[in-house]
Amino acid sequence: RTIIQTENMCFTYPDGTSALHNINIAIEEGERVAIVGSNGAGKSTLFAHFNGINQPTSGLIKIDGKPAVYEKKELLQIRQKVGIVFQNPDDQLFAPTVVEDVAFGPMNLGLSEEEVDERVEEALEMVGMSGLEKKAPHHLSGGQKKRVAIAGILAMRPEIMVLDEPTTGLDPKGVEQIMEILYKLSHEDMSIIIASHDVEMVTQFADKIFVLHEGQIIGQGTPEEIFNNY
Ligand code: ADP
Ligand code: ADP
Repeated sequence: RTIIQTENMCFTYPDGTSALHNINIAIEEGERVAIVGSNGAGKSTLFAHFNGINQPTSGLIKIDGKPAVYEKKELLQIRQKVGIVFQNPDDQLFAPTVVEDVAFGPMNLGLSEEEVDERVEEALEMVGMSGLEKKAPHHLSGGQKKRVAIAGILAMRPEIMVLDEPTTGLDPKGVEQIMEILYKLSHEDMSIIIASHDVEMVTQFADKIFVLHEGQIIGQGTPEEIFNNY
């Protein structure tokens, strides 16, 4: 099952900057995908198309087989399906405690208190943060913050998880903890899409790599295919 597909997708910012040009990609259910490319290549712009924040200027993006529709109800569905974890967890964590932070998303879905509690507990357990519910997010280490941010997205039960530079700034142990979470999710058939500069990590993790350069996909394939050719 193809979960994200684009057809000649282009995106130009209102100031005229052409940020994406003729993007043709397909991402399958349960696949582990990495987008690599230098700063300014268009990774964030592309990610913002995956959850409907950006609308293609021309061309098409299909999410779960259906062309994205930019009406309120459909956008909510897309955002429930596709969870995005930003590069800097401080952009994502704002509640006074870990548990309130992770509960924020599912509460907004209008779920019952029991359902919210259950999801929060499960998400914190998944990321190895059980027992730290009452902590203030700003008192956590960088790696712990990242894991709480991931838990907050997991509690929404998305089918696709998009992570911008998930291991940047972490020590080796922190990197290993994040990777373990991503492998676990991947084995539960979640599609995982990461942006990363970390060639070693990407080589180990990804089934498929897309190389983005100045708004265009200039290479796609397995890590072996990509890194033997560049
Ligand atoms: P990356 O995430 O790979 O660093 P971006 O998607 O942030 O790249 O940026 C792609 C291009 O779009 C860059 O040329 C950048 O300057 C431009 N850009 C990003 N955001 C905006 C914006 N809000 N308005 C105009 N241009 C933008
Ligand atoms: P598959 O691609 O068949 O699903 P796995 O996901 O189990 O296979 O493993 C893919 C690669 O990732 C292998 O090289 C494996 O050693 C490595 N790997 C799997 N789980 C972890 C983990 N928790 N931490 C680090 N590397 C892992």
